[in-house]
Amino acid sequence: MRKVLMIGAGGVAGVVAHKCCQNPDVFEELMIASRTVSKCDALKAQLDGGRTVVHSAQVNADNTEELIALINDFKPEIVINVALPYQDLTIMDACLATGTHYLDTANYEPPDIPKFEYKWQWAYKERFEKAGLTAILGCGFDPGVTGVFSAYALKHYFDEIHTIDILDANGGDHGYPFATNFNPEINIREITANGRYWEEGKWIETEPLEIKRVFDFDEIGEKDAYLLYHEELESLALNITGIKRIRFFMTFGQQYITHLNVLQNVGMTSIVPIEYEGKQIQPLHFLKAVLPDPASLGPRTKGKTNIGCICRGVKDGKAVSYYVYNVCDHQSCYKEVGSQAISYTTGVPAMIGAKLFLEGKWKKPGVYNVEEFDPDPFMAELNKQGLPWKENFDPDLVE
Ligand code: NDP
Repeated sequence: MRKVLMIGAGGVAGVVAHKCCQNPDVFEELMIASRTVSKCDALKAQLDGGRTVVHSAQVNADNTEELIALINDFKPEIVINVALPYQDLTIMDACLATGTHYLDTANYEPPDIPKFEYKWQWAYKERFEKAGLTAILGCGFDPGVTGVFSAYALKHYFDEIHTIDILDANGGDHGYPFATNFNPEINIREITANGRYWEEGKWIETEPLEIKRVFDFDEIGEKDAYLLYHEELESLALNITGIKRIRFFMTFGQQYITHLNVLQNVGMTSIVPIEYEGKQIQPLHFLKAVLPDPASLGPRTKGKTNIGCICRGVKDGKAVSYYVYNVCDHQSCYKEVGSQAISYTTGVPAMIGAKLFLEGKWKKPGVYNVEEFDPDPFMAELNKQGLPWKENFDPDLVE
């Protein structure tokens, strides 16, 4: 039996689990393990009855020994980590200790420093190589599909890609004055950090949300997009031949920015603990507790997402521009798996990465970002598994 252990039972995990169960020939047994076992049980109850045998368990993924015991008991081939970025290293340690392969969707971030970097996870490369184990990093949409799109562009249409602009637009409306589409803590830490992009071999830093552009997105229309630092910039700047500049833009409405500014100005987005009624609390943890749970946004969110990459470079001495993107409808996702498109666009690629690993197509000892694997089988799976892509050789969206 091919067994997979999934850690986490939140918005993204719900999608991964549904999609694994839609592919029972590959995912024969699935264990859902997370901190709050009632969430695992609730998810299991939605999935029971299909051909994939589903189990649930409680685990604190901050504790490597607990993870080792669970893995030794269940003996999965691969662990899909869709808990939080804080757990990446403890889970990788447990995979090494038990001889188990690994996949995640977000790079490690120390809980007390709002900074994400690959250096901590890349430091495991030699140990995974020696153990004959594969670790697939950042296999969601962005990071994830954006890396696969870039590798696909390079493989088929370019000798060298000189610039990549990753554009992430969410045209969805959940009807709340303010809510985040995935884990609020991780989301707010990302957006309130300084912006950063790569140009001519160095990083250029901006103030948070300092650079704004307006783009007209297919099936969504005009949106304000802001330059952010995003983790795939770090690996793509190394892995894409000839790259001279790489940037990431994400759309936010004025209402979202206004709320965020107020929350930031009053100190609610801070991760520095304060004393409140005799207890130390992080303002951002408290804010997370009062904001809507992203997993509850599914039935309310209407509209579409559009995420993709514009690549510019040369092929056979001629200039080439290429835009590849996916449009995903929030309500269609909700009808299919009970979640909104942000969780869907993350969970489907995580399942595809694990599927390609189990089929032996994305399997090589070491620690790799997605663009280091063959993009073709992944691109084919995106079309089959609910995230079809479109391409365009005359993009006029961004300079
Ligand atoms: P949620 O907050 O909805 O879910 C996180 C889950 O992890 C919860 O079930 C939570 O348990 C569990 N968890 C947290 N800490 C622990 C722990 N110590 N031990 C065991 N379980 C734990 O987050 P999302 O589903 O929205 O996001 C999941 C991941 O996906 C995140 O890492 C996020 O950064 C990433 N992501 C990646 C994207 C991409 O495109 N690459 C896009 C969006 C998200 P509990 O219920 O008890 O809190």
